[in-house]
Amino acid sequence: MIIVGNWKMFRGPEPSALVGLDAVVCPPFTRLRDCVEAGLTTFAQNVHWEPEGPYTGEISVPLLVELGVVGSLVGHSERRQYFGETDETVAKRTRAALEAGLRVIACVGETQDERERGETENVLRRQLSALEPHPDLVVAYEPVWAIGTGLTATPETAQEAHAFIKSLVDAPVLYGGSLKPENAAGLLAQPDVDGALVGGASLEVDSFKAICETAARIPS
Ligand code: PEP
Repeated sequence: MIIVGNWKMFRGPEPSALVGLDAVVCPPFTRLRDCVEAGLTTFAQNVHWEPEGPYTGEISVPLLVELGVVGSLVGHSERRQYFGETDETVAKRTRAALEAGLRVIACVGETQDERERGETENVLRRQLSALEPHPDLVVAYEPVWAIGTGLTATPETAQEAHAFIKSLVDAPVLYGGSLKPENAAGLLAQPDVDGALVGGASLEVDSFKAICETAARIPS
């Protein structure tokens, strides 16, 4: 089970409070160093495809590696929705990071509209076809309608999407979307759910710990 906390643009908990947890954290850039120094498995929330250059506001693989960061999220739906991220830029970021030795969690998922129109599988197929297989690639299935909304996919809905994703890519698949201590067990128990990408509930030490403890109890 892989449990990942995405702190988004929040300060997040004190890294020392998470020492010893079997989890990955994705803090904002200014907190990466503190997390690395506390010994946490630390990922960035985004990474550029060029090793350096005039790209204000972006961060490169070498700069992350120098800090001790070991991976990055790529293509989070908030990047796709608000910052113009496309399947093509997601693919470029993913390829550059993997080639340079970072692990990548690539996020995919359909919007409410796309689900209602019966487009879920087409959207997932399109998003995934931009990615090449790699041993350090993990996919996060994050239905956009469930992120930060309090709406969670039922375990059956998540399982169905995860099984479809696994029919297309050979990679662990994490579920993300309003996962909390109360709904974690049902989702994580699904056969094709290999872990979770947790947003809001990773900002509180107690709830993140509770999710990690639930994950540890699920037989692999
Ligand atoms: C996320 O940010 O990836 C996420 C799943 O957020 P939340 O858990 O808050 O829905």
